[in-house]
Amino acid sequence: MTDQAKYFAVADPESGTMTFWRRDNRGELAAWPRGTEFGPTLWKRPGPGREHVIPADLDAAARFAWIQDWHRTIRRPWLAKVKAAIDGDPVAAAARFAALQTCCARCGRSLEDAASRARALGSDCVTRFAPDVVSALVREVGRALAAREAGNEDAALISREAAYADAFGRLRDAENAP
Ligand SMILES: [Zn+2]
Repeated sequence: MTDQAKYFAVADPESGTMTFWRRDNRGELAAWPRGTEFGPTLWKRPGPGREHVIPADLDAAARFAWIQDWHRTIRRPWLAKVKAAIDGDPVAAAARFAALQTCCARCGRSLEDAASRARALGSDCVTRFAPDVVSALVREVGRALAAREAGNEDAALISREAAYADAFGRLRDAENAP
């Protein structure tokens, strides 16, 4: 018996930060956890970090048209890219979700044991997937974890370099001191 994963993680096509999604029974994707916002967001008033703000000087009709246009040209194309990324490789996206959240890719429950984590599926849900899908998930979990390790490794290197630069800077300052 085969089934489908419902939880996915893909990088934001624009900012590169990770985004998390749940596919509902109608097949619609919603940001996870519920209430989270990813991607371009529209604000009523300007504020720090608010890139998209509805212009204040519009009458009701123009305001409505402006918002419609924003959704058509900004929000919907972004969502289409996210959807394409998930649909392009749903196994990798589900495995990435499970690896990053240690949650079952099918039901979203947290995975307690190592075997479930490696498979990205809890012991009940794993029986609903064909063996080839499960082994593809295991491979993709490994890949997602390796990518995360690599990311951490980079961050560690950068902070080490920053520490060296700081130490050398202080040494130079000490040498130049009268
Ligand atoms: Zn499950």
